[in-house]
Amino acid sequence: MKASRGEGFVLVQFFVFLASVLSVSCSLLVDPAELLLHCLRDYFPKPYPLSGIVYLRNSSSFQPVVQSYARNSRFMSLSNLNPSAVIVAKNEVHVKGTIICSKKISLEIRIRSGGHDSEGLSYVSKLYYAIANATKTYAFPAGVCTTMGAGGHFSGGGYGNLMRKYGLSVDNIIDAKIVNAKGEILDRKSMGEDLFWAIRGGGGASFGVILSWKIKLVLIPEQVTGFSVSKTLEQGATALVGKWQQVADAIDDDLFIRVQISTANGTQRGTKTVQVNFIALFLGQTRRLLSLMSESFPELGLQEKDCIEMSWVESVLFYSRMPNGTSIDFLLQRDLNTKVYFKRKSDFVKEPIPKEGLEAVWEKVIEAGDVWMSWNPFGGMMARVNESDTPFPHRAGIKFMVQYGASWLAQNATKTKLDQIEAIYDAMAPYVSKSPREAFLNYRDLDIGVNSDSKFFKAEVYGSKYFKNNFGRLVRVKAAVDPDNFFKNEQSIPTLSYN
Ligand SMILES: Cc1cc2nc3c(=O)[nH]c(=O)nc-3n(C[C@H](O)[C@H](O)[C@H](O)COP(=O)(O)OP(=O)(O)OC[C@H]3O[C@@H](n4cnc5c(N)ncnc54)[C@H](O)[C@@H]3O)c2cc1C
Repeated sequence: MKASRGEGFVLVQFFVFLASVLSVSCSLLVDPAELLLHCLRDYFPKPYPLSGIVYLRNSSSFQPVVQSYARNSRFMSLSNLNPSAVIVAKNEVHVKGTIICSKKISLEIRIRSGGHDSEGLSYVSKLYYAIANATKTYAFPAGVCTTMGAGGHFSGGGYGNLMRKYGLSVDNIIDAKIVNAKGEILDRKSMGEDLFWAIRGGGGASFGVILSWKIKLVLIPEQVTGFSVSKTLEQGATALVGKWQQVADAIDDDLFIRVQISTANGTQRGTKTVQVNFIALFLGQTRRLLSLMSESFPELGLQEKDCIEMSWVESVLFYSRMPNGTSIDFLLQRDLNTKVYFKRKSDFVKEPIPKEGLEAVWEKVIEAGDVWMSWNPFGGMMARVNESDTPFPHRAGIKFMVQYGASWLAQNATKTKLDQIEAIYDAMAPYVSKSPREAFLNYRDLDIGVNSDSKFFKAEVYGSKYFKNNFGRLVRVKAAVDPDNFFKNEQSIPTLSYN
């Protein structure tokens, strides 16, 4: 990572994944892996390296490598992942060679980032760690999960608790390096503004392999403040959520209050209730926070003892619910053995949900048991960026984004959990955006439409939900930069073809 000062702000050039993972598959009669190996010899730098880079199906390391790069147990069996080879690219020449060879012999590729870099360079959390080591007064707006990779996370938008003040990750990216379908390595100038626009929210995987981002850091105070206050239904959670819906997107941009909804034991033995956790990041100190809260949201009853002052990087750990005092070195860790099955869905809310609506939803939450929701307030900078400035169109008029989540450990629970999350998604339908029911690309959800056979009208179904009117421009960019549709997946951007 290189950091330099320029024009009043710090720029960080960050090679997100010198070890991007490219998995390739096809159904040729000739062993595709052999063809691939043969071809790669011409493109990989000499001496031709294989160890730790190319993994073929017949290698004993193949299965562990494939599985260690998969985070969601739902997609971890080899029949789901089925690649002929995995290339753990260590530099841009490996990426370039893999693309050229795969195209030449008609292999499909899938790109992975997800913190898979053996040096850890692609973790969002390692980026935070590096920023914090270089400066106390700058940060970068992105998510707080420690295992996310900058390849997928940024190219899908990238939201986090700085978004009311500074927008999304993609609103703060100033250059990128990408390998296109011809194997050319392009920067912002050589790729042009259309492709640069598309990869900032349209998902990188439809357009190429992103090698690096150049990002603009944002100013933050040396001390920020966090609080986490929980209330159950018996403690007045419904009224508090009612008030939160009125204020959270309109309050001072320095304050981000997320609402986390889950179940807890009720006051009566054997009963369940809904618990609402208000977890906040404030870009300032306790005194100003308390004054803001007593003016706008006194019903929460926030007190000085609820507030924790810390550095911004410590707030990342606080928001990840690590115990107070956890060393920031935790951000460098990635436990590859924590494998769970999980499902995510998303929604956007434009009008406050009335009391009866909240009560109907709570009933479903209690019925479902382990499914949770996270409501993230918009407003602030999110409302000041135009819908068409980046492919991420959910801007002015959005009160909050809903994330639905379920995680489980045993495969045989999968159907139950998917049904439970669907039941809550259905219960929320009357209160969320309509025509289209908008969705967030980073919470990839194949239930909202798939396009396994490159049909435009199928892609339009999910495309309009993720991108609204920006879908058309994404399709035009795709047609211009990848007319053969080399970079594709179940929810990629199609080329302009009405077949
Ligand atoms: C626990 C958890 C917490 C999360 N928290 C947040 C959050 O706070 N904010 C938020 O916005 N999102 C959040 N997400 C969603 C997350 O942003 C997406 O899952 C994102 O796609 C992850 O990117 P990745 O690189 O880690 O994943 P990957 O699975 O490696 O990639 C995801 C997609 O991006 C493509 N891709 C990856 N790398 C590249 C590349 N270099 N070039 C081109 N395409 C590439 C892949 O092909 C795939 O389509 C969270 C997800 C989880 C599981």
